[in-house]
Amino acid sequence: MARRKLVAGNWKMNGSRAALAELDAVAAAAQAAPGIDVAMAVPFTLIAPAAERVPSLSIGAEDVHERDSGAHTGCVSAGMVKEAGARFTIVGHSERRADQGETSQDAWAKAAAAHRNGLQVILCCGETEAERNAGRAERVVQAQIEKSVPDNADGSWFTLAYEPRWAIGTGQTPTVEEIASIHAIARAKLRMLIGDAADEVRILYGGSVTGDNAATLLAVENVDGALVGGASLTAAKFVPIIEAAARL
Ligand code: PEP
Repeated sequence: MARRKLVAGNWKMNGSRAALAELDAVAAAAQAAPGIDVAMAVPFTLIAPAAERVPSLSIGAEDVHERDSGAHTGCVSAGMVKEAGARFTIVGHSERRADQGETSQDAWAKAAAAHRNGLQVILCCGETEAERNAGRAERVVQAQIEKSVPDNADGSWFTLAYEPRWAIGTGQTPTVEEIASIHAIARAKLRMLIGDAADEVRILYGGSVTGDNAATLLAVENVDGALVGGASLTAAKFVPIIEAAARL
């Protein structure tokens, strides 16, 4: 079946109210590309103003807590970001795994919490450079998927993102063969876990996607879009990625 391409940005711990002006051109490019989906994850504090400024654009969170409420000082729940205007959340990003020690089990619980609260989910997986050099990339990604994908995942709310950690923010990308291989393995693992529903789940590639390489990377089999960090911070860099996806 045909899966609509998704180009999703991730501002990480960047941005300000002034930076929201970038979203005007992103929303316009998204509207000019009705055949694909476009989304932007922003810091918690910018979700409400972003959603108010560009109501046509899918605004999301970069993380949520796995519980719906309670004594968790400094944390933000899925229901809270939904109320602020988020339509989706990223979970299991490698920077949260590295900085906050999050595990695949945590990503599973966060994905479940997001779904319970009516959010779409982009769940990240990906190996480190050492794991790839040791020939363990496939096994690491398979294990992450096995531990983090909820049993009831399907394409109506769930998206997987393959993001090799060594490609994030480095300007390095895997070869198209390496990406095709991991995405095929990821699809097969999803099929084992959720059956035919796996065919509707989008698998994004993330890691140093730019306007220059997007057309090549997005044309790889089983690559259903991109998760974009650095190049999502300005419309000048993000819009060409949207346009490349729309042309495919
Ligand atoms: C990311 O952090 O999800 C990411 C893919 O970052 P970048 O595009 O900057 O490599």
